[in-house]
Amino acid sequence: MKKFIGIVLAVFLLLLGAVIAWSTIKFHSFSFSDAEIAQDEKSLGYYLDSYERSRDAFRKSSDDIAKKFKNAKRLTLAVPSNIYDGLTVDVLYIPQDKGRKRLLVLSSGVHGVEGFVGSAIQRMFIDDFITADLLDSMGVLIIHGMNPFGFKHHRRVTENNIDLNRNCDTDEALYATKNGGYSEVYSLINPKGPVDTSAFGNRFFHIKAISNIIKASMRTLRQAILQGQYEYPEGVYFGGKQAEAQVKLVSKELGRILRQYPLVLNIDLHTGYGERGVLHLFPNPIEDKNIKAKVENVFKGFSIDWGDTGSFYTTTGDFSTFLGKLISESTYLPMTFEYGTMNSNTTLGAIKSLHVTILENQGHHFGYASKADEVRVKSNFLEMYYPTSPSWRMKVMQDTRKVMKNALENFKSM
Ligand SMILES: [Zn+2]
Repeated sequence: MKKFIGIVLAVFLLLLGAVIAWSTIKFHSFSFSDAEIAQDEKSLGYYLDSYERSRDAFRKSSDDIAKKFKNAKRLTLAVPSNIYDGLTVDVLYIPQDKGRKRLLVLSSGVHGVEGFVGSAIQRMFIDDFITADLLDSMGVLIIHGMNPFGFKHHRRVTENNIDLNRNCDTDEALYATKNGGYSEVYSLINPKGPVDTSAFGNRFFHIKAISNIIKASMRTLRQAILQGQYEYPEGVYFGGKQAEAQVKLVSKELGRILRQYPLVLNIDLHTGYGERGVLHLFPNPIEDKNIKAKVENVFKGFSIDWGDTGSFYTTTGDFSTFLGKLISESTYLPMTFEYGTMNSNTTLGAIKSLHVTILENQGHHFGYASKADEVRVKSNFLEMYYPTSPSWRMKVMQDTRKVMKNALENFKSM
């Protein structure tokens, strides 16, 4: 009888997931339909196909704009690696023209593979938004490719399998965080052995996942998995045992720039989570009501997902919150832009996206049963964070311009 109820529940949840997947959740005017996208070759031109090309283009854009504004400078932070030579985090800093009142920090590639889109957005921003008028009211600090290893190697994590957006804190206590929920689903999300995509467990992954959803709720499960964990270095969403080199570098090299400004807005660029083709404003929850109101004010007219709505989650050790901890004297407004790629806000989308994540991590650690398995897993993974669809790419640029334009106007008047 118990088994029967379980099956009925599983079928029900599967159907429910399908219904949710097909229904659209509207956020402002940003739902995605190919037909509505205006053709825009200029936007497409920003998307490049390698870490090196993206970085070279960022350096060139930075050097070009630095010729126009005499106090601008480009910094190169070398990130040590046992695998690749010459990995860097690149930074463009243009101070506010007169005085030090406001600073915008636009960061990309905290999750390496998400750097393709982040880099494209940053170069568009340099071309379209950095003007003498903007610099009258704020300084601009652009951090390119926080995780260059992952960017180059098409991984979300660093060389040490660390999710940099779970690794950032000024307090070492982060690395002792226990995530009990994660341990319970450890074996589901961290299978051992070479990846065989035709294996039974992979063909019917959604059934395994759904049986876990029956035991816990979807929200509990999503939170347990995505929050971050500090115990299993080979597992997905591992936050590390100490701060990664580039986290220390940012604190050392950029902290003194950040501290000059009493008001700082960070926009950290990410892809992969949320409704496909939709720009989600998705900061980690902010407890201070005053700060939260200020963030809402900057992005007024657009809906913000505060991590307290059903389909979102909160994390520990995220980069954006960390920047704020470096400047406790200043008013700090954190924001994350998430460009959705595969409807992971729905149950079916979340299961699919989790499966892609698991297989990529498993393949990294245990290899693949065949070359075809490797190609399939790696291309699905890249597609999840860097969609090939031109409509998706144009939509992302167009929405970003719209939100940025409004947000910067609002930020200027604060
Ligand atoms: Zn991300």
